[in-house]
Amino acid sequence: MILLDGKKTAALLEVETKNRIALLKQQGMTPGLAVILVGEHPASQAYVRSKDQTCSRLGMHSRKLELPTATTQQELLRIIEQLNKDPNIHGILLQSPPPKHIQEKEVTLAIDPRKDVDGFHPLNVAKLVMEDSSGFIPCTPLGCRYLLHAYGISTRGAHVVVVGRSLIVGKPMALLLLQKGLGGDATVTIAHSQTPDLASITRRADILIAALGRPHALGAEHISPGTTVIDVGINRLVDRSTPSGYRLVGDVDFSALASKCHAITPVPGGVGPMTIAMLMQNTVMAAERFASRRN
Ligand code: NDP
Repeated sequence: MILLDGKKTAALLEVETKNRIALLKQQGMTPGLAVILVGEHPASQAYVRSKDQTCSRLGMHSRKLELPTATTQQELLRIIEQLNKDPNIHGILLQSPPPKHIQEKEVTLAIDPRKDVDGFHPLNVAKLVMEDSSGFIPCTPLGCRYLLHAYGISTRGAHVVVVGRSLIVGKPMALLLLQKGLGGDATVTIAHSQTPDLASITRRADILIAALGRPHALGAEHISPGTTVIDVGINRLVDRSTPSGYRLVGDVDFSALASKCHAITPVPGGVGPMTIAMLMQNTVMAAERFASRRN
C-alpha cells in the first residue's frame, strides 16, 4: 500500500512556490492574502491560523481579519470593497462557514474574481466548466489532483467515483477530472446522500474520492482490491486522551481500507496540507497576473 503523503508533497511544492515569490519580489511585489473570519468557530480559527503561518513561512504578506459574530452583511461587504481596491492584496477569501445572518453567495459575488483564490465566484466556476485556464480552481480539488499526479497515479481512462456534490469539493473535483488532458480524462461518477446502494457504485471505482463529511463512513466493503483512495474528510471526534480534547478522522475507515487499496491518503496529513499549498499557489498566481497587468 502506498501512503499518499500530503505533508511531504506540500513541502516539496513550497520550494517551487518560494521561487515564484522570489521572482515577484525582484519586481517589487510581495504576494498578499487576506483571510476573513466572521465569528468564533474553533475549527475555522485553526484553519485561518494555519493559512497565516504558511504565508509567513513563504515570505508572503498575510492579513488576518477576525471579525465579531455581530458583523453585519453591509460591514463585511464594505471590507471586501476595500480589499478589492488594495494593491497589496492579491487574494481574498472568506473562511467558511460564516454565521447564519451572512449571505455567503452575496459575499462571494462581491469579491473581485481576479482575487478570488478560492475559485468560488460564479465567473471562476464558469471558467472551470469551460476549461478556461484564466480563472481560479478551488484549492481542495486542485490539491487532490496534484497529489495523484505526484505519485504517478494517472486519471486518464480511470473510473473515478466522487462521493459528495458540494460546490467546494465534490462538483469542482468532478469537473477537474473531466477536463481534457493531464490530470483529467477520467470517467466520473458523482454520488451523494440520495444515491441508493452506494457500495455497489464505489466498488467499481479505480479511484475513490470521499468528501461526505461523515466520520469513517466508507469501509472495506466500499472498495475493490487495488483502488486508490483520496480521503478529503476532516471530522473532529471528541477524544479526552488528547491534549486538544479531540482527534481528526477522515470519511473513510483508514485501518479497514489500508490493506485492500493500492494507495490512500492519511487524515491528518493527506489532502489538508495540499489544500493550503494550492491556496498559496493560487495567491502567487493572482499576484503574477496582477504584475503582468501592471507592466
Ligand atoms: P458538505 O457537507 O457541503 O457536502 C457533503 C456531501 O456529501 C453532500 O453532497 C452530501 O450529499 C454527501 N453525503 C453526505 N452523506 C452522505 C452519505 N451517507 N452517502 C453519500 N453521500 C453523502 O461537505 P464539503 O464538501 O464541504 O466537505 C466534505 C468533507 O471534506 C468534510 O469532512 C470537510 O470537513 C472536508 N473538507 C476538507 C478539506 C481539506 O482541506 N481536506 C477542505 C474542504 C472540506 P447531499 O448533497 O445529498 O446532501
